[in-house]
Amino acid sequence: MSSSVEQPRIGMISLGCPKALVDSEIIITKLRAEGYIISPRYEDAELVVINTCGFIDSAVEESLDTIQEAMEANGKVIVTGCLGAKGNIVRENFPDVLAITGPHASDEVIAAIHQHLPPLHDPHQSLVPVQGIKLTPKHYAYLKISEGCNHRCSFCIIPSLRGDLVSRPIDQVLDDADRLVSAGVKELLVISQDTSAYGIDLKYKRFFWRQQSYQTRFIDLATALGQLGVWVRMHYVYPYPHVDKVIPLMAEGLILPYLDIPFQHASKKILKAMRRPAHAENTLQRIKQWRSICPEIVIRSTFIAGFPGESEQDFEELLETAQLDRVGCFPYSAVEGAKANQLPGSVDEELKQERVATLMALQASISANKLRRHIGNSMQILVDRVEPDAVIGRSYADAPEIDGVVEVPGNFENVSIGDFLDVVITESTEHDLIAKLSDE
Ligand code: SF4
Repeated sequence: MSSSVEQPRIGMISLGCPKALVDSEIIITKLRAEGYIISPRYEDAELVVINTCGFIDSAVEESLDTIQEAMEANGKVIVTGCLGAKGNIVRENFPDVLAITGPHASDEVIAAIHQHLPPLHDPHQSLVPVQGIKLTPKHYAYLKISEGCNHRCSFCIIPSLRGDLVSRPIDQVLDDADRLVSAGVKELLVISQDTSAYGIDLKYKRFFWRQQSYQTRFIDLATALGQLGVWVRMHYVYPYPHVDKVIPLMAEGLILPYLDIPFQHASKKILKAMRRPAHAENTLQRIKQWRSICPEIVIRSTFIAGFPGESEQDFEELLETAQLDRVGCFPYSAVEGAKANQLPGSVDEELKQERVATLMALQASISANKLRRHIGNSMQILVDRVEPDAVIGRSYADAPEIDGVVEVPGNFENVSIGDFLDVVITESTEHDLIAKLSDE
């Protein structure tokens, strides 16, 4: 008898950043362990959970639209995530949603599901793969090391949504990483709100893992993850002096020579007004020093153009700093409740868009120049997709979904998603590389 017909079916929509995605994965893993079936369609589900984002206005809109859609198509909806923590906005718009929670509240979400759609107790259904249920493809996974943030950037409301920094003890993080690797994950993407602050709240507490003593600290985490034999990519790192210590690990090949550092601006005046972490550091000098230790290091960053008070000169400074490998730029968006909204000197909407376009056009030519230098080089890529006429992968320089790709034209029947391939770069574009197999 197929019991799947009788199992309660839940629809799950995950919006927002990788951190929200990890919350969704935790919820789905728990649901699957209890025998629920995750349904990809509203119509087939008996209840829908929506993990929302409430960071900027467009994300709020997207979340509200999604709730509306689910209410119309299904009618039984539980809302979780950042928008759920933003006052009464969800309740005011949708008085009939079943429950509303903030982010990082998987237990509350599960309790609400139990109330409205109780689980069937069938231990044979309680089979969950060792790595949990992941929403990312099987060959890469996000590893969340902490929640919340101790900073108070003036444009951001994450601390009021998610609270102060709470780090996960290093032995737990390493257990998770080890489980993911045992289950076939080839690339771990370390995420948090501030990866360089990892462990401060735990006073860098020491734990034993595999007979070794590690502090709950950024450098120990990088060292331990570097032993697992997979790609390890660090996101959301700030340029504090202690970050210097991980650069040699990159030079030795233990972790990927890639750092995602959300600078947000280059002008000291604007960084101060933004109240950015490490705004007093001499960042350009620091990057220069990193490149001298590990010349292949790739730095990705995001910037905000048109922050209140940004003058032409401040913007010029931003353009000068754009000599980074990977850059994203967004117009400043006034987030409800953010302190920056009270700052004088708001920049005209059109000018903001113009500045974003100018920065991105400059960055496209910088990126094209940097990528051109790879032509003729050998690289290792991790395969993300196998198409009839090409394999699409990424090198150490490309994080999934936000950076470029390496395309290997041809029909490769023996190649699978998650394989590592050795390639030689043959061509480049503004953001991507074209390659052939090394042994061709
Ligand atoms: S570092 Fe700043 S922008 Fe990032 S989460 Fe913390 S307060 Fe927000």
